[in-house]
Amino acid sequence: MSTDPAPKSDCIFCKVVAGEIPCFKIYEDDATLAFMDINPGNPGHCLVIPKNHAADAYSIDAEDFAAVARTCTKVAPAVRDVVSPDGINLVQANGEGAGQSVFHVHMHILPRRNDDNLLMNWGHKPGDMDEAKALGEKIAARIAE
Ligand code: 5GP
Ligand code: ZN
Repeated sequence: MSTDPAPKSDCIFCKVVAGEIPCFKIYEDDATLAFMDINPGNPGHCLVIPKNHAADAYSIDAEDFAAVARTCTKVAPAVRDVVSPDGINLVQANGEGAGQSVFHVHMHILPRRNDDNLLMNWGHKPGDMDEAKALGEKIAARIAE
């Protein structure tokens, strides 16, 4: 079991899991949820999170982390097929120095372009929500095929 699995009242991703904050959901199973990032580094940028709260990779239950990885193997190929990027980074930050801003474990599935010049800490700027919604629907449909 996770050392810290209870939903946190001040955790935005626990609120997403609980349905208290809306998201463009693309996939879920018993242990994980995948949804579009609201500040995408590139179109198609999404997140995979464990449903159990854990702040970071230091405290997450191994089974929950494994479940996140399993979900990434479903979502990443669907993102690839929908947005045809030049590559995809799977990125997971631990601590402010690593660029972590939400302290509930999340794997970024970040489509890349050869010339996007994104840095590892790529900054947050609001995305086009119509585009995020449309791409989320396409990725979800691709996973369901
Ligand atoms: P971090 O900076 O911790 O690696 O990544 C946190 C990510 O969560 C950021 O890319 C940010 O855009 C995203 N994010 C923060 N709040 C929300 C939210 O309420 N909904 C969604 N969908 N994404 C969020
Ligand atoms: Zn949480």
